[in-house]
Amino acid sequence: MKSFVVIGLGRFGSAVAKTIAETEADLLVMDQNEDRVNLFKDIVPNAIIADAKDERVLDEIGIQDFDVAIVAIGEDIQSSVLVTMLAKDAGVPQVITKAVDKNHYRLLEKIGADRVVLPEVEMGRKIAESLIFENISNVVDIAENIEFAEVKVCSRKMNNRLISEISELNGYDLNISYVKHIHGGVEIASGDTRLMIGDSLFVIGRPEDIKKLSEQN
Ligand code: ADP
Repeated sequence: MKSFVVIGLGRFGSAVAKTIAETEADLLVMDQNEDRVNLFKDIVPNAIIADAKDERVLDEIGIQDFDVAIVAIGEDIQSSVLVTMLAKDAGVPQVITKAVDKNHYRLLEKIGADRVVLPEVEMGRKIAESLIFENISNVVDIAENIEFAEVKVCSRKMNNRLISEISELNGYDLNISYVKHIHGGVEIASGDTRLMIGDSLFVIGRPEDIKKLSEQN
């Protein structure tokens, strides 16, 4: 199990910390605001009140031993940048930082954050996509530019045909791993898998290809 430190317990940091706390993973949460930390006292054994800009604090918690640091300091851009840099300098393998705008985002990328998140932008995009591409769901980022997704078969072109017969399915650079049939049963996809409207395709590939498949479909 990985170990995580969440620095900053605003809305974003709290949501991240609560989700991690539901697992067996090692977790330490930190905020300089006592009230915010108190909200975590019963959920996370390691909840501390401290200023993460202070290198001694980071030394004391042994930040270098955590696998992932989530820097969820919002508006205070200077602190967010400094803490990201300190965590990276200490040798934390994965530092993920929340940005508040595009310039903050670029700055964080420059100083070596492994991942920068603009939560409102990401969420807005995801919601719009789920409205436009209604037949795509359960999207999970697997790596940069590779997603796992569930695509519902809704086109007559694919109805009652084998995967090998559907040229549209073979033209994309994506892998159909499983098919969940509307009438029950899940099978590993092969050319001999027969599709019906309402079946779900579990696919892995580039987001553009997954979208193209869902538009064709
Ligand atoms: P959100 O937009 O996610 O709600 P906020 O800006 O409200 O984010 O919250 C950021 C949190 O980070 C606050 O609880 C704040 O006390 C905390 N924080 C800011 N600077 C530091 C720091 N240097 N050390 C520890 N916690 C900090």
